[in-house]
Amino acid sequence: MKAARFDGEGKITLITTDKPQPKAGEVLMRVAACSLCGSDLRPWRNGWPLTPGHEIVGVVEAPGHPMHLSRCLAYIPVWCGSCPECQAGHTNLCRLAPELIGWQRAGGYAQYLTVPEQCLLPVPDDIPTHLAPLLLDTIGTAAHGIRLCRKIVDSGRVLILGAGPIGLGGLLVLQHFGFKQVEVFDPNPYRRSFAKSLGAVPLEQVPSSTAYDLVLECSGKDAARQTALEVVRAHGAVVQLGESDAWHVQETKPIRRKDFYYIRSFYFPVSEYAENIEILRHLKPQFERLVDEQVPLEGLGALFTRFSAGERIKPQLQLHY
Ligand SMILES: [Zn+2]
Ligand SMILES: [Zn+2]
Repeated sequence: MKAARFDGEGKITLITTDKPQPKAGEVLMRVAACSLCGSDLRPWRNGWPLTPGHEIVGVVEAPGHPMHLSRCLAYIPVWCGSCPECQAGHTNLCRLAPELIGWQRAGGYAQYLTVPEQCLLPVPDDIPTHLAPLLLDTIGTAAHGIRLCRKIVDSGRVLILGAGPIGLGGLLVLQHFGFKQVEVFDPNPYRRSFAKSLGAVPLEQVPSSTAYDLVLECSGKDAARQTALEVVRAHGAVVQLGESDAWHVQETKPIRRKDFYYIRSFYFPVSEYAENIEILRHLKPQFERLVDEQVPLEGLGALFTRFSAGERIKPQLQLHY
């Protein structure tokens, strides 16, 4: 089969390798599409020992298995089902799942991968294949963080920092949950206008007044983290969705003398999947717009260059057979 190898410094090489062999409790999945993610830029820059790609939809190829030929997403934490977190339904927090698909085991920038059975999320017939990966990071991750914050803040003025896939996904999820007043800052004019076209108020300047009931930090940049902590209103909440390696924020006076909530979330539990499908159904035409380019394996390298420059929102590798 063909697979993409991430060599580092933005170089992607197509290699030919053996089809992976599923172990006990795993199935072979033929990849149909795999969406690009901002977190993939780390392996793209630094290189990666395994095939990356973690927003995967594909078709199960396991003759005799009840899921044979069904379309499924790959849920990335290989959860155990028996630890206290899994028992409580928090499959995203499994204590015995050291492996994430597309990170510590091979992912979806290839024609095939193996997927543990408990990580198969069946895709309903009315959800087109190319939209299905949005149910993972774009809707799943954003909705999980927003569900946590709704326990504290369920209305009011919202600021989103970073209008990439998570920020725009978060915008649509907030709309689904009834938030009306959402402002978005991103230094990239294309992303700002995209946010505006989805109904947000675009901000050209980083806001500085302590005015927001809820701040979604979706850029993973320290400057944005700093802003989020400063502009959240007393009794408000900051939801940290963006990722990066290191954190450097200063405890300034507006941060020190304020009661507020700080929420960090990771991915989403399997139990939220059905409700996330409803979010996609509700705002399908808007979500459709996020998938702004589809390329075959041969085009993945050039697509990563455009994606890293902020010229695409949620493009994907698409494999035809
Ligand atoms: Zn992702
Ligand atoms: Zn577990």
